[in-house]
Amino acid sequence: MVIHSRWEAPIPNCSLPKWVFGSSFGPLPDTPQFIDPDHPERVITRGGYRLWAKRIALGLQRAGLKTGGRVLLFSGNNLFFPTVFMGVLMAGGIFTGANPSFVARELAYQLKDSGAYILIAADASMGIAMEAAEQAGIPKDRVYSFDATGLDEIKGKARLGSRHWTELLASETDAAKFDWVEPADPRTTTCCLNYSSGTTGVPKGVEVTHYSYVANGVQVRFLEDLDPEITEKRKTHRQLCFLPCYHAYGQTYFSSNFPHSGVPVYIMPSFDLEKMLQHIQKYRISQIVAVPPIIVALAKHPLTRKYDLSSIQNIGCGAAPLGLEISDELAKLWPAGAITVRQGWGMTELTCTATSWHPNEFKRTSSVGEVMPNCKARIMRTDGSGEITKPNERGEIWIAGPIVMRGYWQKPEATASTIHTDPDGTRWLKTGDVAYIEKYEPGGKLHIVDRIKELIKVKGNQVAPAELEALLLDHKAIVDVAVVGVTINGGEVPRAYVVRNPAINVTEQEIAKWLEKRVIRYKWLKGGVKFIDAIPKNPSGKILRKQLRDLAAKEVGDR
Ligand code: AMP
Repeated sequence: MVIHSRWEAPIPNCSLPKWVFGSSFGPLPDTPQFIDPDHPERVITRGGYRLWAKRIALGLQRAGLKTGGRVLLFSGNNLFFPTVFMGVLMAGGIFTGANPSFVARELAYQLKDSGAYILIAADASMGIAMEAAEQAGIPKDRVYSFDATGLDEIKGKARLGSRHWTELLASETDAAKFDWVEPADPRTTTCCLNYSSGTTGVPKGVEVTHYSYVANGVQVRFLEDLDPEITEKRKTHRQLCFLPCYHAYGQTYFSSNFPHSGVPVYIMPSFDLEKMLQHIQKYRISQIVAVPPIIVALAKHPLTRKYDLSSIQNIGCGAAPLGLEISDELAKLWPAGAITVRQGWGMTELTCTATSWHPNEFKRTSSVGEVMPNCKARIMRTDGSGEITKPNERGEIWIAGPIVMRGYWQKPEATASTIHTDPDGTRWLKTGDVAYIEKYEPGGKLHIVDRIKELIKVKGNQVAPAELEALLLDHKAIVDVAVVGVTINGGEVPRAYVVRNPAINVTEQEIAKWLEKRVIRYKWLKGGVKFIDAIPKNPSGKILRKQLRDLAAKEVGDR
């Protein structure tokens, strides 16, 4: 049986910029859209957001960016991040964002895989950016250093032979006349490549179309609007962005959905608990969207009790499982019933958010809610029978609807093995997550209980075992290796099982240290390294990951 959403929301078939701004021209309010919470005088208004994005769009076109060309932004959050994102889309390009702490090898991989034409990189990371650009064959004059300079038109300094990003900007007069071109078919026009390893293998570029972005925004807004008091509430809504803007979360909620609704966003450079609490108190922030480690910090840290958080109305959480005890502990900071902590579930391959809540129907539960409007789900037995489960029976969740990715960038085989197409053309994304549904009825509530894909999630970040395994095999003492996730102190971390070359002297700790020099911190083997005689594999050579996951849980895990 298929679980349908209770709702069909009308989705305009237009570009994301059109959905956010309405059109290239015409008045937009001068109300604050993006604010630097450390310097509240630094503001980009709603009208300013469109104008800045148009300046970047025209500048990118003049710099040679063609329709469908890729621009990679390698930076932490700043006030201008959303303007670059939107500018790339207005230029007809494809945006791809990378974690600002990547090492050069990781950045070069994404530059090469996406075939980026232009790299815009945080000033502080120019060393890494230039090294990666060289590895990927991107000439220095297509690398731009990025910082928060711009608002006051002070030209910043380009570094290491790059250009400064303000050199890209078209003048305000030219930009005011610039009319972005609507894609011929927003349903099939990719606007972003967001990297995800999916159910197996190394990170791949997930092609998300304009239409999928608009659809996900419409769905989020549709659910919000079910609250009869929303018009009044929205007048006082203020958002705080501490999640990374390069991620799908940042692109949808902070760069698109809140601007579409005219909700001001205070952009923090990165997460910092005390600063976050100060900003909530000072700016009377009304809602936050977070990931589980942030919820844990909020619930447990004594600092939280020192601030006035009474402005918060609700807290949303996604990206990894959130325990019910933690949500309860957090909710206790407010008078009973004053706030809700709602968990949703999503995936890069599903644009961003795939399940959520009717705002007035939420009750205390560990469920992630129901499928978004215009979507449907089915839960498949994992025994290969191709059968659908019964209520309360666990299985792999598949999702169909306008938010399903177009495919993996230039990887037709990976796309074909992740998307199942019914004879009637319905495309189902096989998520690799294990779920059950309380009742098979429209709006049935889903519970995510396990994962059958290889993916490891560390503090909301993806770690692809295949990437770490390929790297570890470069170590001369390693003959074979498998990396699996293990939950320690409530959080998932990677653990490596290694078959060692007996002729070479090396310790487990040395291997962990060796890897640390080659990958971003959240991919470190915090779950440890363990020597083993042979990696368990099936007759066709596939690693028996479940067996290793169970072993890891027994050896070092929480359970
Ligand atoms: P990403 O593509 O990086 O957003 O990661 C998507 C994956 O994160 C999902 O396929 C799940 O495995 C996991 N995930 C996201 N939200 C939740 C949640 N609420 N509960 C459990 N796992 C989640």
